[in-house]
Amino acid sequence: SPVIGVLALQGDVREHLIALAAADAVARPVRRPEELAEVDGLVIPGGESTTISKLAELFGLMEPLRERIAAGLPVYGTCAGLIMLAEKILDPRSGQETFGGIDMIVRRNAFGRQNESFEAGVTVAGIEDGPVEGVFIRAPWVESVGAQVEVLAEHDGHVVAVRQGRALATSFHPELTGDHRIHALFVDMVRAAG
Ligand code: GLN
Repeated sequence: SPVIGVLALQGDVREHLIALAAADAVARPVRRPEELAEVDGLVIPGGESTTISKLAELFGLMEPLRERIAAGLPVYGTCAGLIMLAEKILDPRSGQETFGGIDMIVRRNAFGRQNESFEAGVTVAGIEDGPVEGVFIRAPWVESVGAQVEVLAEHDGHVVAVRQGRALATSFHPELTGDHRIHALFVDMVRAAG
């Protein structure tokens, strides 16, 4: 089984570890560059992208992560993790940086205050047996994508799931639902890359 890390600086790390194990991966938390070096793929969890950005700098992971992602490490980001994979954030907080990996511009907290949290069925290209349950928590959306990016899902006319090569990202949180189809897709991507 592939070894898949979950970036464990902040956010819903535990839920991703459980979902990855259920999808037949060996799952481990990653906090240090030496731990990053040992994984075949990496999940970047939901949480708070400004905090993840700061802690990645503090833990010396910003550059190693950028380099490994640019070199083709399979990555999957959910919500704040999607933001971390964007090449550009609209209105970033000062000092907020991303790892990059997907040629897209994202809008943080895009679904608005009155809708800070909601659930909706989302049809995702490549996921069979019906829509997934999309859990959106102060979720971003993808404002625009480059030519290499495949749009996998939209909600209310806004892009909420994308893939570019070995990088996958969703605005919503499959790790909170017990439905492991998207994690299984990512595990397949990691296997195919190995
Ligand atoms: N709004 C958060 C951010 O900007 C993301 C929320 C989440 O990951 N559930 O990082």
